Amino acid sequence: MTYSLTDDHRQIQDLVRRVAREKVALRADDIDRTAEYPEDMYALLRELGLFTVPFPQQYGGTGSMLSACIAVEELGRVCYNTAYLLVVQWIPFGALLAGGTPEQRERYLPGLASGQLRAAFSTTEPQSGSDVQGIRTKATPVAGGYRLDGAKIWCTNSHVADFILVAAKTAGTDGKAEISLFIVDKGMRGFEVGRKEDKMGARGIPSCPLFFDDVFIPEHNRLGSAGNQGFKVVMEAFNQSRPIIAARGVGLAQGALDHATEFIQNRAAFGQKVSDFQGVRWMIADMAMQTEAARQLVYRAASLVDAGVAGRELAPIAAMAKCFATDVAMRVATDAVQLFGAAGISAEYPINRYFRDAKVLQIIEGTNQIQRNIIAGSVLGKPQRR
Ligand SMILES: Cc1cc2nc3c(=O)[nH]c(=O)nc-3n(C[C@H](O)[C@H](O)[C@H](O)COP(=O)(O)OP(=O)(O)OC[C@H]3O[C@@H](n4cnc5c(N)ncnc54)[C@H](O)[C@@H]3O)c2cc1C
Repeated sequence: MTYSLTDDHRQIQDLVRRVAREKVALRADDIDRTAEYPEDMYALLRELGLFTVPFPQQYGGTGSMLSACIAVEELGRVCYNTAYLLVVQWIPFGALLAGGTPEQRERYLPGLASGQLRAAFSTTEPQSGSDVQGIRTKATPVAGGYRLDGAKIWCTNSHVADFILVAAKTAGTDGKAEISLFIVDKGMRGFEVGRKEDKMGARGIPSCPLFFDDVFIPEHNRLGSAGNQGFKVVMEAFNQSRPIIAARGVGLAQGALDHATEFIQNRAAFGQKVSDFQGVRWMIADMAMQTEAARQLVYRAASLVDAGVAGRELAPIAAMAKCFATDVAMRVATDAVQLFGAAGISAEYPINRYFRDAKVLQIIEGTNQIQRNIIAGSVLGKPQRR
């Protein structure tokens, strides 16, 4: 399948690129240094109507994953944290759209699309991240709903979220434990958001632990219908939103390349510009080549989603896009720091921010080892245990 950018895609690209350069770039270092949630950037994205981009047209969106990737890439090129504001909103959106009841969609999606509501998504617990089946938070059925008990960690955006989608174990119809998602609204009795992590990267959007002490969750706050179909549907939906995560890698790599290029053209050594050394030129060539390859893979994965490709056909391509683009982001950011020399280590220059943020990308939303497991599984099938 081939793809090309339409006028609509280019329009979004032009708009976001201009805003990113003129407004977002100026705030990027400050957000990282202070680790303060950027309310001004949130207001800017809201004003521009960007939260609605991937939403179906009935919510005022484009319904296009490729458009969403382009917006994230352009913001991520100058500021990881501002791009994250979109992504962190779109994860619960994807879950609700795929697995929510009509009433749940009606209740939450218009607010998420406009940016009036903020949300978060939480599966990770102290003893289990990649291994989602290892979660211990449990939802016990009671009259009219459930009682939620347990604790989570690393829930990004939770401190400002109006609601959080929380994964918990509950007894299935056959008596076996199954995982479901519960909508925990801000202020529910017994629910607390803990102190924010002091993070190496992604510093502007806090990640916090969550505590649930006998929290009553009404039946209509369980995502989808009973039975863990709801959770399975949501996991499927995450394949579709994976290109957005990958687009952050492309934006980050491009931004690191931009900074490195500017620096070496203005730095001299041994009587010539650093950008004139052949060894350095080849490094830049490799960085540009990898970034473009990542971009093409991400755009292709997004275009497949837009063309309605799903399930097993999409999963390995989406995993390749996430894994490749974020590995490229790490490599390009590492080389960019190298090209800055000692200035790359100094907080005076922005490049070490790219390096720290790139590392986060290889870990979140399914580590890159987990993505490789998905890809290998599509080639070799499941490993056979003897
Ligand atoms: C900045 C940040 C934001 C986050 N935000 C959220 C959020 O909003 N909501 C949320 O629920 N979680 C969030 N997380 C948590 C994140 O999803 C987990 O950290 C991630 O899934 C990995 O889990 P873990 O840290 O427990 O590592 P583990 O799963 O313990 O893995 C440790 C190491 O072992 C490797 N590994 C594990 N299993 C396998 C395997 N089968 N094959 C090969 N290697 C394997 C991993 O890749 C990793 O390198 C966030 C994390 C960070 C850093």
